[in-house]
Amino acid sequence: MRCSCGKRAIFNSKGYRISLCEGCYPKFYVRLVKRSVKKHKIVKKSEKILACVSGGKDSVSMVYALKELGFNLSLLFIDLGIKNHSAKARKVLEEISEVFDLDLNLIKLKDFGFTVDEFRIRKVCSACGASKRYLMNKFANDNAFDVVSTGHTCDDLLLFFFKNVLSGNWEYVTKLKPRVDGFDGFVTKAKPIFERVEEENLTLVRALNLPFLIEKCPHKPKDVWKDLFEVIEKEKPGFKQNFIRGVIKLANNLSVDHWVFKQCKSCGGISNTGICSFCRLVERYSQKGEESCKPHA
Ligand code: AMP
Ligand code: ZN
Repeated sequence: MRCSCGKRAIFNSKGYRISLCEGCYPKFYVRLVKRSVKKHKIVKKSEKILACVSGGKDSVSMVYALKELGFNLSLLFIDLGIKNHSAKARKVLEEISEVFDLDLNLIKLKDFGFTVDEFRIRKVCSACGASKRYLMNKFANDNAFDVVSTGHTCDDLLLFFFKNVLSGNWEYVTKLKPRVDGFDGFVTKAKPIFERVEEENLTLVRALNLPFLIEKCPHKPKDVWKDLFEVIEKEKPGFKQNFIRGVIKLANNLSVDHWVFKQCKSCGGISNTGICSFCRLVERYSQKGEESCKPHA
């Protein structure tokens, strides 16, 4: 297959009915992100954005697109203390910060008294997720960022929808919105590449020869849902994106007024029970106890 410019295509899409070469693909990708950002008012030029990056292809793609579109960005990497993983990710982030000439902020979970490897629970990923969300929000709040931006993809949203929303937590659907506006200490959250699928991100970082961490987190379990989505996608190209667009429409028509937030008794942050999930982890795993949660107050 050939790109319309005549060069060999590296991207062939049935959904878009397009073939693109290494040079033309990144421009196409950025145009797609621009369209999502504009349509859903995901981020604004006037906002100071904290781009949270894991070092994987998705968050690196997000940084590329936002930078190309002229947004005001700084990077945040959270070192979760995962053996044979976090140090490699940090190296990638140092390279990314140089390539894009962006500030790199670092937080070590260890400074709060524990690491992800120390969690002795079945649901390591949900505790890790709670830690990341807490630290991203805290850093943005403490340093006057307007928006916390993550590289959540169409695939991530689909998985969340099937695992968390369809299991009965219907109100969680509003968490999937590409932009969730902030309130008292809760910084606005944005997902600028929510319509992009992982394959598109992989093609982007490869086309541009950007540094990225290929290996997945060793704690991540294999997900059968993902295989299922791929089977449907193969039969019906565009299924994943069309499905998520429908879910977002649904989320936009739901009110979040019924979310009742309380203040965490330990750190003063937001919780839905009275003590936030991060403080519960601190209580359980930190040698330092309550003290390590104090900076958030
Ligand atoms: P995950 O929770 O691993 O599915 O990642 C979702 C998004 O969270 C990524 O696209 C990043 O934007 C962000 N993220 C994940 N891990 C980190 C990390 N260690 N430091 C900063 N941001 C992260
Ligand atoms: Zn707390």
